Amino acid sequence: MKEMYCDAAVVACGAGGLAACAQASELGLKVIGIEKGKKTGGAANAGMGLLGLDTDVQKRDLNSVTLEHAFRMFMDYTHWRVDANLVRNYFGKSADTIRWLEEMGVEFYKAARYFPGSEATWHIVMPENRKPGPGCAGTMMKILTEHARDLGTEFLMETSAQHLLMEDGRVCGVRCLDKDGEEIVIHAGAVIIATGGFGGNKEEVLKRTGFTYDKDFFGFCLPNMQGDGIRMAREAGAAKTEESMELAVSTAGGLKESIRTAFHQPNLLVNYQGDRFFNEEFFENSTFAANACNLQQGRCGIMVIDDRIRDLYENHGVDVSSYVLNRMSAEGFSEDFEKALQKNPYIAKADTLEELAEKMGIDKENFLRTVETYNHYCDTHDEQFGKRQDYLRPIRTAPFYACKFFPGAYGTLGGIKINHRTEVLTEDYRVIPGLYAAGTDTCTIYGDSYMFKLPGNSMGYSVNTGRMAAEGAAEYIRTI
Ligand SMILES: Cc1cc2nc3c(=O)[nH]c(=O)nc-3n(C[C@H](O)[C@H](O)[C@H](O)COP(=O)(O)OP(=O)(O)OC[C@H]3O[C@@H](n4cnc5c(N)ncnc54)[C@H](O)[C@@H]3O)c2cc1C
Repeated sequence: MKEMYCDAAVVACGAGGLAACAQASELGLKVIGIEKGKKTGGAANAGMGLLGLDTDVQKRDLNSVTLEHAFRMFMDYTHWRVDANLVRNYFGKSADTIRWLEEMGVEFYKAARYFPGSEATWHIVMPENRKPGPGCAGTMMKILTEHARDLGTEFLMETSAQHLLMEDGRVCGVRCLDKDGEEIVIHAGAVIIATGGFGGNKEEVLKRTGFTYDKDFFGFCLPNMQGDGIRMAREAGAAKTEESMELAVSTAGGLKESIRTAFHQPNLLVNYQGDRFFNEEFFENSTFAANACNLQQGRCGIMVIDDRIRDLYENHGVDVSSYVLNRMSAEGFSEDFEKALQKNPYIAKADTLEELAEKMGIDKENFLRTVETYNHYCDTHDEQFGKRQDYLRPIRTAPFYACKFFPGAYGTLGGIKINHRTEVLTEDYRVIPGLYAAGTDTCTIYGDSYMFKLPGNSMGYSVNTGRMAAEGAAEYIRTI
């Protein structure tokens, strides 16, 4: 057994944990960062950027989103079912955090929208290869790690935090295991937890949220996220919160970008009964689309396009493009789709609508009626959901193509109850002295659905609460 001593022990070094390490080190604390993986950064290594409000980047891009506007919008969206002071503290800190990151060397490509109708709050990180795209936030994680290390943070890699140490009702350290199974006992003035939720634990996801991976749910499953921090905090007396998935609509079975681009578009979406159930104009709000699919039989929505739409997207350009599927056309679709048909049971191609319905398991008679009605709407007006006219493309020209969509998720949300200062609370709202938590382990601020209209919210919440936890811990340590 090895013993170590520090002011702040930070359990996990993803978005929230790294921000906590860097901030605590800046405040002069001796910090130990404990990370289960071989690399710091967690899920944020796969992401693109974080929310900022009233930032210099937004002003530069003539795209300002004020704190007041965002706060009102957010509280309206969540019906005030969330901790308003926590939201306010996070939002209020976000501009300073963007500046803080820039001073550390992080460059932001721009403040972007995720889809038409969202706000330009998503501060996309300029990566080392200068090609912003999925994973570019990894550069920010690297800079945060180097900054924290330069200021004295000691990182224990491939080391898993197991249990908190308690003395006289306060948290005073953490017990860990390194990759060789050696026990490390870290004595600390305060502990900050940010282990990124339980999305990598398929059994717990099913038990706690009802989704079955690879059956009716196709989300990211990052193996290190086992809910360790939530369990540890609860062992120390932390109250439970609601737990949910950060839903985003997903295709299944690993499809190429050309195919995903062609189907992540505002075209006819039906369920197994052959009914339309969504205004497809909002399909790019991945959370809305996932919520709507989630209500259908098998949690499944099926998007249908015809050969004219295929030709338009493949050879001329798509209706909607995004930073994630950063393509202006579905070039290569025909070849990629033919290959995918051999192994992916979630897509189909057919010469008739009847055959397509059969292949996809859709009620044939009703589907034919729906297509007829939908085509009529394309010629007139969408009487069912009022979809924008320019997104109404009829389904008339064979061959026809279909793709199934299901709920997916970026990870889980919630688990540990905190207050607006990121102090961990018991069931009776008492603060557990010495224990702070940040990031998705604590994130219940969206209410029932992830808030995609202010994109970058998830990483933004994690980085900002990580900083807040470090500041709180520094203040607390001065009092003990
Ligand atoms: C593909 C993808 C793209 C995304 N893109 C964006 C985006 O562009 N913008 C956005 O706002 N959000 C995005 N997100 C979500 C965002 O990345 C996460 O919400 C954010 O990283 C959560 O931060 P966190 O600190 O809570 O956890 P994470 O960043 O996931 O870090 C958790 C860390 O905990 C470690 N860990 C777990 N258990 C232990 C233990 N017992 N001991 C030690 N270490 C442990 C893990 O190894 C991991 O490093 C994306 C997510 C995914 C999957």
